[in-house]
Amino acid sequence: MSKENLLPQNDIHRRIIHLDMDAFYASVETRDHPELKNKALVVGQDPRHNGGHGVVATCNYHARKYGVHSAMPAIQAVHLVPEEELVFIRPNFEKYHRVSAQVHSFMHEITDLVESVALDEAYLDVTHNKIGQESSVQLALDLQKKIKSKLGLNSSFGVSYNKFLAKMGSEYAKPFGRTVILPDEALNFLGMQKIAKFPGIGPKTQEELHKMDVYTGGDLRQVPVFVLLKKFKKMGYIIAQHAHGIDLRPVVADSDANRKSIGMERTYEPAIYNRDEALTKMRNYCEYLEKELKKRGFHAGTVVIKVRNNNFETVTKRRKLKHPSDSCFEFFDVAKDLFDSVHGFLEDGIRLLGVTVTDFEKNNYQPIKLFE
Ligand SMILES: [Mg+2]
Repeated sequence: MSKENLLPQNDIHRRIIHLDMDAFYASVETRDHPELKNKALVVGQDPRHNGGHGVVATCNYHARKYGVHSAMPAIQAVHLVPEEELVFIRPNFEKYHRVSAQVHSFMHEITDLVESVALDEAYLDVTHNKIGQESSVQLALDLQKKIKSKLGLNSSFGVSYNKFLAKMGSEYAKPFGRTVILPDEALNFLGMQKIAKFPGIGPKTQEELHKMDVYTGGDLRQVPVFVLLKKFKKMGYIIAQHAHGIDLRPVVADSDANRKSIGMERTYEPAIYNRDEALTKMRNYCEYLEKELKKRGFHAGTVVIKVRNNNFETVTKRRKLKHPSDSCFEFFDVAKDLFDSVHGFLEDGIRLLGVTVTDFEKNNYQPIKLFE
């Protein structure tokens, strides 16, 4: 395999929005307490009344100017911000959940392919949307406007052809901004970004990359993929894909992410008496299951079959796979084995046949195909 082929084929045909509420908790509180507008607002418990304990849940942009940020010990905020400007407010998660649900209801007017990352952050796949709007930028602008006018809150968004770029875009846009990254602009955009902005590149990896004279996305793209792979293993491969603007992860709808199994079963009249015929049906089911799993980026760990005969006797048999998989061949191998372990059913005639896969695992990135 040549070194150029190490990366998966890019897909530039999707339209993904990453929407992120600006300083969410703090903005909700400022909205509800306008008198705090010009204060450095920190959402968290006041350490001065709390024995010095507590962390910053989030803070507004005014507080950020003083260097306060989320997850920081709250006592540090006390040292950083002048006393007359600093206000602590206790988080009210019930309220934030309520506001988040309102934002989600706006998103679902556009598409049900909404994947929440947090209360204040979600991906939308708008390639096909309910509104029939071709311009994903217009959709995102309308959504941002609606959130502002109906809820009085600022948000930022990125639009691009994959999740990672859309997210980089919304980060870049903050606060109350927008970034649109078209396919032919992606490498330019990424080239300008500091490597610290790339997901998965923490302080340690940054240090290693700096030693290799890699400071920007542009530098990163110059590094051969196999070098990143060798040095940083799995994460190196993800970083390499990012450097080339590739991220094939699907947007998994929240409703789908909670699914516990996917299956297919059919009843047959007349009944099936022939093994090959039964196996052909099951092979078709397995192909369907593979397609459904790939759509969601899931791997399944267990295969279950269900067989019912003319006497309405029903058996289900299950087997765990050695490794979670999304391959119809692997599902079928197991299903066939399980089917052959059911005795006496073919002779009576089979009325119902089903194959289900379960024990899902989320397949986050394109697996490395090097060693197959
Ligand atoms: Mg946010």
